[in-house]
Amino acid sequence: MNNNCVFCKIIKQEIPADIVYEDDDVLAFLDIRAQAPVHILLVPKVHIEKVSDLNENVSYIVSKLVLAANKIARDKGLNEDGYRLVFNCGENAGQEVLHLHLHLLGGRKFTWPPG
Ligand code: 5GP
Ligand code: ZN
Repeated sequence: MNNNCVFCKIIKQEIPADIVYEDDDVLAFLDIRAQAPVHILLVPKVHIEKVSDLNENVSYIVSKLVLAANKIARDKGLNEDGYRLVFNCGENAGQEVLHLHLHLLGGRKFTWPPG
């Protein structure tokens, strides 16, 4: 846990969020500035800054995040039309919050390549 981290504060329930999923390792909540009809952030409950900080000991976190995202996507009926999962890592990718998070985006079409 990091006292200055907004996502740690959400995990500790010090600031509110619209939580849509929780298990022992993962919390998922609505993004405050949704970029799509469905825009959910999935975070590990431990404070890891970025996807590039993962190592063998904590690589299970990635599969937990992806499996939780898939479950939420199924529950929200996104499976047929598809959805996008995104990790922004570091400055060039536009990572704003330095607590690892997986974006689940759905409910509209997305362009590729990204801007
Ligand atoms: P990043 O650009 O770091 O990949 O994405 C961070 C995301 O966190 C952004 O989409 C932003 O809207 C979202 N965000 C930032 N602060 C908060 C907050 O306090 N609550 C929630 N629910 N989302 C936040
Ligand atoms: Zn944190």
